[in-house]
Amino acid sequence: MANSKFEYVRNFEQTDSLLPNTWIVVRVDGRAFTKMCAKYGFEKPNDRRALDLMNAAAKAVVTDLPEAMIAYGVSDEYSKLVSTIVSTFTANYVYSWPTCFPGTPLSFPLPTFDGRAVCYPSLQNLRDYLSWRQVDCHINNLYNTTFWSLIQLGGLDNKEAEKILAGTLAAEKNEILFSKFHINYNNEPEIFKKGSVIFRDYELVDPGSHAVDLEMDALAEPVQQSKTQAEKDKKKRAKARVVVEHIDIIKDEFWDKRPWILS
Ligand code: ATP
Ligand code: ATP
Ligand code: MG
Ligand code: MG
Ligand code: MG
Ligand code: MG
Ligand code: MG
Repeated sequence: MANSKFEYVRNFEQTDSLLPNTWIVVRVDGRAFTKMCAKYGFEKPNDRRALDLMNAAAKAVVTDLPEAMIAYGVSDEYSKLVSTIVSTFTANYVYSWPTCFPGTPLSFPLPTFDGRAVCYPSLQNLRDYLSWRQVDCHINNLYNTTFWSLIQLGGLDNKEAEKILAGTLAAEKNEILFSKFHINYNNEPEIFKKGSVIFRDYELVDPGSHAVDLEMDALAEPVQQSKTQAEKDKKKRAKARVVVEHIDIIKDEFWDKRPWILS
């Protein structure tokens, strides 16, 4: 179809590359998952099958795309990076559905996701971004655990539960859980409290340690390298084991033990 009169439409394609030398976060978020939860009967507040499914899809993305952690200079098509990540994620989500939800056939609505890329100029910004997401996970989970306990164990309706929780501090929610339902929030599963962190596991610098919530972020590192070094690193990354852990990423410890993740 070369040189047809229709070809001018190609000029409408925009090059939309992201800011060079920045840490790129691609955030993937389920579209209309509130409806998905209702349709497929996700358990409230935390459906373990749905979390495992998100993790399986995210792990597949990290495994499939060594580019998920490359220097900006290697590729300039981050719009393509975003679309590739979202589509790889969605394909794997659908593929792994029967494993995580045996007995619940997938029909309509089918799961879809949106994706956006954000550039963070400093390592501190990137760390703060990830800390923000993990703090969010904790705040939401404490609220949801208390909210759904009041409903499922306390027999209240949504409005009554909302009213009791309005304006309460974390300590008060912990107290409601403990005094009314004998639930010690600290003993709740780590996956609910901390979310999931997915990364390449080489070897721990100091061994002895043991990784959104619906949102999953893939990172790209902004270090400038020679092409051969970049190729070598890419091969090494492709070979490394990808692990899923539920662990604190706010404190320095996680990063100090795994310097390869951000360097
Ligand atoms: P949008 O398309 O704007 O993202 P949404 O309905 O997906 O709309 P979100 O703010 O992304 O809105 O919220 C996701 C919803 O799905 C929340 O209500 C959350 O509690 C629910 N949800 C997601 N994962 C699980 C899970 N594993 N178990 C139970 N509920 C879940
Ligand atoms: P990118 O990931 O950048 O899109 P690509 O390898 O997919 O790279 P395209 O320019 O999109 O490159 O080309 C797609 C290739 O797949 C072409 O060679 C095209 O002929 C082939 N192809 C696409 N659809 C079909 C089809 N239905 N049957 C046979 N070949 C196809
Ligand atoms: Mg969401
Ligand atoms: Mg959503
Ligand atoms: Mg192409
Ligand atoms: Mg193509
Ligand atoms: Mg193609």
